[in-house]
Amino acid sequence: MTHTASTTAAAKPARAADPALVRAWSVLESVPDPEIPVVSIRELGILRDVRKSVDGVLEVVITPTYSGCPAMAQIAEDIAHALDDADLGPYRIETVLAPAWTTDWISEAAREKLRAYGIAPPSGRCGVNDAASQPSVAVEHTIRFAPRASNSSASNGSGATPACPRCGSVHTQRLAQFGSTACKALYRCLDCREPFDYFKPY
Ligand SMILES: [Zn+2]
Repeated sequence: MTHTASTTAAAKPARAADPALVRAWSVLESVPDPEIPVVSIRELGILRDVRKSVDGVLEVVITPTYSGCPAMAQIAEDIAHALDDADLGPYRIETVLAPAWTTDWISEAAREKLRAYGIAPPSGRCGVNDAASQPSVAVEHTIRFAPRASNSSASNGSGATPACPRCGSVHTQRLAQFGSTACKALYRCLDCREPFDYFKPY
């Protein structure tokens, strides 16, 4: 007995309706970021896509927060565990570097969670990838956490001074360009005296 797949049924790809994809999205939405466990890799914008490849294999696309991010191996492992636990194999995990991850991809909900966790979310938007949704060239972005305009550190530019995540004061002072990770700078609140990490926009 042969079972012929109808070709007409595939005329209109209904990606969201594929139950395996729906399950995979919901499973992966709960995978936390290894460095900031209060937010998920989806909320941070690290999880870019979950799709079925032509050979029927589940493809999970992730973009590291910066090149050489040491947490990426951990994230891939966590994704593999989550998919294995949900019996969603076979799958492959693809790391895509272009367009490069930007703090603009952090969801509003995640920004609130970061603040509640004691990390000042990135202020403003850098908009570097607004026009880059269709990468025409595979650009290998190098690490981009160089401070800009080091000569004019007195005037900190366009409202770049982060508000204290604990008391909301904008009387904050940068103590170090790097905080607990390279993505963050160490600040101190001049009002409540609390030191805090600031997730640098890039
Ligand atoms: Zn404060």
